[in-house]
Amino acid sequence: MSIHHSQAIFERAKAIIPGGVNSPVRACRSVGADPVFVAQGDGAHIWDADGNKYVDLIGSWGPLILGHAHREILDAIKDTLSMGTTFGAPTEVEVKFAEKLKSAVPSMEMIRAVSSGTEATMSALRLARGFTGRAKIIKADGGYHGHADCLLVAAGSGAATLGIPGSAGVPEGAAKDTLVVPYNDLASVEKLVSGGDIAAVIIEPVAGNMGLVEPAPGYLEGLRAITAKFGTVLIFDEVMTGFRVAFGGAQARYNITPDLTTIGKVIGGGLPAAAFGGRMDIMQKLAPLGPVYQAGTLSGNPLAMAAGLKAMEILSRPRTYERLETLGKKLGDGLLAAATAAGVPAVMNRVGSMLTLFFAKGPITDYETAKTADTKRFGSFFRNMRDRGVFLPPSQFEAMFVSLAHTDEDIEQILEAAKASLVD
Ligand SMILES: *Cc1c(COP(=O)(O)O)cnc(C)c1O
Repeated sequence: MSIHHSQAIFERAKAIIPGGVNSPVRACRSVGADPVFVAQGDGAHIWDADGNKYVDLIGSWGPLILGHAHREILDAIKDTLSMGTTFGAPTEVEVKFAEKLKSAVPSMEMIRAVSSGTEATMSALRLARGFTGRAKIIKADGGYHGHADCLLVAAGSGAATLGIPGSAGVPEGAAKDTLVVPYNDLASVEKLVSGGDIAAVIIEPVAGNMGLVEPAPGYLEGLRAITAKFGTVLIFDEVMTGFRVAFGGAQARYNITPDLTTIGKVIGGGLPAAAFGGRMDIMQKLAPLGPVYQAGTLSGNPLAMAAGLKAMEILSRPRTYERLETLGKKLGDGLLAAATAAGVPAVMNRVGSMLTLFFAKGPITDYETAKTADTKRFGSFFRNMRDRGVFLPPSQFEAMFVSLAHTDEDIEQILEAAKASLVD
């Protein structure tokens, strides 16, 4: 294998794919690096096209909570594959998937499967608007809910480090009904919702796309109370937190019942699947039962449903989330200790196996404070870690994800790399 294999692929990619990537953050531009072209994954590790091995802390941006190429997931896909891949007619595995999902997240009384988190949030908002007959929605500054036009306003994730205020191509009309509030600021939501004309509040119950920011005590409870009072639909966007921060998602961890939930990433088991669901009376407004249209050629795709169903089954086994907590804590505590020992100002924000090391004084409680982080230092930390065989999310404003495939030795290797990378 040529040492320059990755470079050669990247050159070809740039000629035909904008930036050489099919999703912007993969380009690694904000950390001053080139994309890593992956050849293979196994457990907690990936290998790039040049044969370099890395401990992976991206996990495909969250889905791979069981690690790469998990045997049982691959077998579930293979078993389904031999029957055919898509029918455009319903199959039993979709029903099993919905039943399993509802058993974990009981507030999802009825569920519709889609193929991406973006579709789930976009559809949930249309449904909330159709149900309430209102147009306006509220989202948090730095909250990311996929790339639908009306949600690309003050968005986090890749849009954060690219520094695009919203995005070109989003017409004013699509953005004008999107009201933006600081995360963790209940008073500003209360002020807007009490006007009585807000269709929905959409929120990441643990923010993961401005780097990780935990909800302040009382914040989610407050959102629940205010929205209930004024007939506003509360949407928990659990695309990242679902089956991540607890088996039943953030709503189980913090014991809050939203009206609608959007969920993705983990529930696809590494294949493209997502879903939205919630209160029966709201979900019954969806076509073909009701007037709110939503559809998808590959929605509920049998391969994706089989992979997701198996992932949920494996995650429902005993001690899964205890193990994720232990590994997450070991990594989080270790990274913070390494930064402190190196004299680098840092804040560790962590919920279970989702975490962000901010190079800032902190505390980091919203997007404004997240933006005080030293992104230049993060860039060199990313590159130093990559050179030492650790693949971090290539942005200060993303979360690292630990999987069940990570071992204590993997975490120790990451921490050794971090100690050296922080003093460089
Ligand atoms: C990833 C993410 C999305 C978008 O999901 P895609 O599958 O990338 O379209 C939406 N909301 C949240 C909270 C996410 O983390």
